[in-house]
Amino acid sequence: MPMKIFQIVVLPGDGIGPDVVCEGVDVLRAVESRLTDVRFELTEQPAGAGEYLKNGDPLPAATLQACRECDAILLGAMGIPSVRWPTGTEMAPQIDIREELDLYAGVRPILLYNAEHSPLKPQRSKGIDFVIYRENTEGLFASRKEVYAKDATEVRDTMLVTRKGSERLFRAAFRHAERRRKLVTLVDKANVLPSMAYFRSIFDEISLEFPDVRTERVYVDAASLFLVQRPADFDVIVTENMFGDIISDLAAGLVGGMGMAPSADIGDRHAVFQPSHGSAPDIAGKGIANPIATILSVAMMLEWLGSEQTLRGAELIRRAVEKVCGDPAKATRDIGGSVTTHEMGRLVIAAL
Ligand code: ATP
Repeated sequence: MPMKIFQIVVLPGDGIGPDVVCEGVDVLRAVESRLTDVRFELTEQPAGAGEYLKNGDPLPAATLQACRECDAILLGAMGIPSVRWPTGTEMAPQIDIREELDLYAGVRPILLYNAEHSPLKPQRSKGIDFVIYRENTEGLFASRKEVYAKDATEVRDTMLVTRKGSERLFRAAFRHAERRRKLVTLVDKANVLPSMAYFRSIFDEISLEFPDVRTERVYVDAASLFLVQRPADFDVIVTENMFGDIISDLAAGLVGGMGMAPSADIGDRHAVFQPSHGSAPDIAGKGIANPIATILSVAMMLEWLGSEQTLRGAELIRRAVEKVCGDPAKATRDIGGSVTTHEMGRLVIAAL
C-alpha cells in the first residue's frame, strides 16, 4: 500500500492548552509507530490571547491559511481572562476558526470510563454514553461581535436560526444516531422563543428522512434535570449553540469534568479536534491538567480522517484510555488522583 501522509496543524494556544496538546501529540506519535503506511506531518502555528499580546492578532492570517490547507487541526485551548476586546468579551480565536471554516457541528461524546469519576451514585451513572451535537456557527453566538455604544442603555443579542444551518446539523446528528442506539433528542426552548419553534419545525421535517431513528423533544431546562437524573437514557442530543455550550459542561461534569470531555468541530471539508475545556487559568502552569480529553480528541481526529489505518489508531487510543481509566489510582487530580499531566500521557502510551 502507498504511504498515506496527513498534514495536521497543531494550535497549542493558551493556559493548559500547550500542556495537554503536548501529551496528545506524543500519543499520536506513539500510535503512528504502531500503524503501517500512514504518517502525520505536524505543523505548529501560533494563535490565542498570548499571540495577541505578542503580535497584536489572536488569529494571524498565516495560521488561518494553514488551517484551510491541512487535513485536520488539533487545538489545545484559547483565551486568557484578562486579555479582552474593548467590548469586554474575551478573545476567542477558536470560535473564529469555527465560523471561518464553517465547522457547523460541535460533536461532544460523553462516556463514563469509571464510576469513581462521576459525582452521581453508581446506579445513576451506570451506562452514561451519549453524544452532544452543538450548532456551532449561529444561534445565540451569532451577534457576539456586535459593538455597542459606550453610553448604550440597552444591549441585545440575537438568536439566529437558519434553515440551512439547522438542516445540516440535524442530518449530521441523525446520521450519527444511525450508527449508535438510534435515538435523537432535540433540546430547545420551543415553548418560549420563536427561533426555537422554527428550529423544532425543521427538526421534525428532517426526522422524516430517518425513519429508523426515534426522536424526543425536550426543553433545555428539563434536559438539564434529566441529564442529572437519568443520563444513561440519552443517545444523541442535538441543540442550539448556547444551549450546547452550557449542557456540554454539565454533561462533562457527569463523567469526571472537563478533562474527560473530548470534542470535534466538524464541517463539510474541515475539522478541528480539541478538548471541550477552556484554558483553565486556575490550574495553568501547574502540570496537573488532565490530558485525557485531548488524547480522546486525537482519537476522534483519527476516526474522522477515515482511512483503515487511522480508524485502527482511533480504536487503539480508546482501548488504552479505557485500560488506564479502569484503574482509579491512575488519575489526575480532577478525577481523584495525583498523577501529573505528563505521567498520564505516559500511562496511555504504555497501555497502547
Ligand atoms: P471556556 O469558556 O473557554 O470554555 P471555561 O471558563 O468554561 O472556559 P475551563 O477552562 O473549561 O473554563 O475550566 C472550567 C473548570 O474545569 C476549571 O476549574 C478548570 O480548572 C477545570 N478544567 C478544565 N480543563 C481541565 C483539565 N484538562 N484538567 C483538569 N481540570 C480542568
